[in-house]
Parts: sequence; C-alpha cells; structure tokens
Amino acid sequence: MEVVKIRPRGYCHGVVEAIRALRQTAEAHPGEPVAMLGHLVHNEHVTREFADLGVRLVDARSRLEALDLVESGTVVLTAHGVSPAVRERALAKGLNVVDATCTDVIRTHELVRDLCRKGYTVVYIGRRGHPEPEGVLGEAPDQIHLVESVEDVDQLEPAPGPLAVTTQTTLSMWDTSAIIDRLRQRFPEIEVHNEICLATQERQQAAVEQAASCDLVVVVGSARSSNTQRLVQVVRELANRPAYLVDTADDLRPEWFQGVRRVGVTSGASTPSQITREVITRLEQMQPVAVAG
Ligand code: SF4
Repeated sequence: MEVVKIRPRGYCHGVVEAIRALRQTAEAHPGEPVAMLGHLVHNEHVTREFADLGVRLVDARSRLEALDLVESGTVVLTAHGVSPAVRERALAKGLNVVDATCTDVIRTHELVRDLCRKGYTVVYIGRRGHPEPEGVLGEAPDQIHLVESVEDVDQLEPAPGPLAVTTQTTLSMWDTSAIIDRLRQRFPEIEVHNEICLATQERQQAAVEQAASCDLVVVVGSARSSNTQRLVQVVRELANRPAYLVDTADDLRPEWFQGVRRVGVTSGASTPSQITREVITRLEQMQPVAVAG
C-alpha cells in the first residue's frame, strides 16, 4: 500500500511556540507549582508529556473557573487565548502569568476589541464550549454574538448600528461560508473579517487537493482538537473520500484498507510529529488486504 504524506500537516507555529514557552517555564521553576490553564493544545500526548515535567493541568467548564483552582505559583495561558477577565484575575491573585496565546488569536482579539470600540456589534462564528470563543467573547460580552449555524443567524437580533462578522481561527472556510451567506442576506451591510488562520487553511487545502489521488485518508490527532475534526470533515465533504481519525497507530483498523492502494496521511496542528511518523510506519508495514470475492 502506498502512503501519501500530505504536506503541510502537523504542528503550526502557534503550537510550537506554546510548547516551547511551557517547557521553558517548567524548566525555569523546578519544584514550584506550574499550572496549565486548560489543555495547552488539544492533544493528550502533549498533556501527558507536561504532566511528566510536573506541570499540573487545571481544567474546568471555563478558564475563569479553572483559575479558581490555582492558588500560587505560575499559570500558563494556552494558545487559544483568554478573556481580559481571566488575565486580570490571575494578576490580582499574584500569580506569575506566562502567556502562550498564539499570535493569530491575539490578532483576532485586537480586531474584535477595535470593532467594539468603534461601536460595532460583532457576530463571531465559532464552537460553543471551545476556549477560543470563550476568550474572544470575553472582550465585550454585550456586543458579541456567538453563532454556530445558519439557524443561529436566523435568531439574531443585533442592536441597531454597524455590524461585522469574524471567525474562530480553526474552522474551515466551507464551515463558515453558508453562515456568512445567510448573514449577508439578512444584513447586506455586514463587514466580513475572515480570521481562519493561514496554518489551518493551508492544511485543509492540502488535505482536499492531495486526497484526490488517494483511496482514503487517515487524519492523526485528538478528537478534542477543532482543526483536526475539520480536516476529517473537508476530506469527506470536499474531496469525497473516506477519512478516519486516529489518536495513535493502535487505532488503525485493517478492515478500513480493503482494496486500498493509496492512503493519504495528514495530522492536526496540535499532533506531535512522532505520533504521525508511527502511524505512517505502521501503514507502510501493512500488507495489502484483498477485496473479498
Ligand atoms: S491553529 Fe492557527 S490559531 Fe491555532 S495555534 Fe495554530 S496557528 Fe495559532
């Protein structure tokens, strides 16, 4: 079976920077409490690696609630960013704050802050329960509306005045286009700011293009990772190929590969390269499975 290594794939600059910041912090404060506020990136392997370095994962329904569980020492803010209230409370508690927010997420916060300052109502396309929307909405909760679907757009009753729409960085262009079309129908004057990050766009585009020459695609990553889930979605819906999500090589199922000659492999922006390499090696070692009959 031929394995097509889809590129680009894997770690994005935001994840590389966040991991570097947390590793440096853990090494600089040996024996002192270091807490990671939520998963640094949505990948269990990365979380386990830091647990081994003595970093405590503090997770709760929201970043503010998680912060209540940190009493002293250093707190690391993840690549997804946080609301101003979280940052202020962390400083008020006297914690040493290490901010690993991705520069692309910072740019979205700045955009939303600027729009709100100018009197806009902002529609934000994102996933409920994901930390990135939580942080952005915290910039101006009364002026920002979170929408996930076309149905949510139909329920919107924005305040009179200028209106803008922006997006979570890890969605897909195909996720957002129907929602933006509906917003334009209802509010023709709306200003559109696409904030899907370049790393996400490039990985999705490569997956769709390179899946075309494959019989199926294996996506390596955690089910908690938004950008990983989007990779599965774009391969299935846009490249029209089967796509399977695996966390490790052990999740590969021989029955998926019946009659498969070319398999594409890609991985989410938070998936360690080592895990993807193991999946590729396992696939390369697999014997072709004949089609029954
Ligand atoms: S996926 Fe994009 S926004 Fe998220 S950490 Fe990576 S570069 Fe930053």
